[in-house]
Amino acid sequence: MTIAAALRAAAARLAATSDTARLDAEVLMAHALGVSRSDLLLRHMDAQEPAMFAALVERRAGHEPVAYIVGNQEFYGRPFRVTPATLIPRADSESVVETALAAYPSPQHVLDCGTGTGALLLTVLAECPAATGMGIDCSPGALAVARGNAAALGLAGRARLVEADWNQPGWAAGLGHFDLILANPPYVEADAPLDPAVRDHEPAGALFAGPEGLDDYRVLIPQLPALLAPDGIAVLEIGHTQGPAVSAIAAVAGFSSEVRPDLAGRPRAVVLR
Ligand code: GLN
Repeated sequence: MTIAAALRAAAARLAATSDTARLDAEVLMAHALGVSRSDLLLRHMDAQEPAMFAALVERRAGHEPVAYIVGNQEFYGRPFRVTPATLIPRADSESVVETALAAYPSPQHVLDCGTGTGALLLTVLAECPAATGMGIDCSPGALAVARGNAAALGLAGRARLVEADWNQPGWAAGLGHFDLILANPPYVEADAPLDPAVRDHEPAGALFAGPEGLDDYRVLIPQLPALLAPDGIAVLEIGHTQGPAVSAIAAVAGFSSEVRPDLAGRPRAVVLR
């Protein structure tokens, strides 16, 4: 079988599973053959490779996310290793980075609460060569992934990755003060209808936050003033309907807030001052 024919068959197989069936097939083929997507045109399949590719396609047909199958996801132009211990970085969160860098262009000391793969923290550190930062997460599995990403991006010397849980009293003691705090906390409503690729494969602890998806904002936001340097700001990712509720929580904690959109024009980040 030629690569072109195998890709056509795989895209048809995945049409019911994925909105991006052809792209998924190409990414899985590139992974099976150990080449980049653009180099697929130059390759042909060796004896065992059709079966290897078919096995990957069947995993995807069972709703496993492509990023977990290949172990990698690009974010803000950089590769991040991902495992089922971490949420898969999303394009939505790239707009959180853009919002943060527009609102606070040269941060010196950055904190990322719930860092997961480290995507938000490590992207800001890569974009801001003078910055140092800390990423916290309650998941040891996620921290291991974040540490690997920091090393792979050459940022291990500027990123401390620390186990901490903002639901535990005293978690923030001794962390210091930060001029930019980032967070993409869990914010999905407990009974929200989710794509099976998300619901059955991504870590529930990184997604769900009580009946309204607001539990983590209610716990985290009141603790942010003690962590902010004078004139520091916090930039939090939100669900697109959550701007008013998160702004109200922030107002009680003494913050003024501005809601900013993602590339689709939907509310996606809130800037707290
Ligand atoms: N944007 C993610 C989703 O809807 C949720 C991320 C989160 O809860 N922080 O799948």
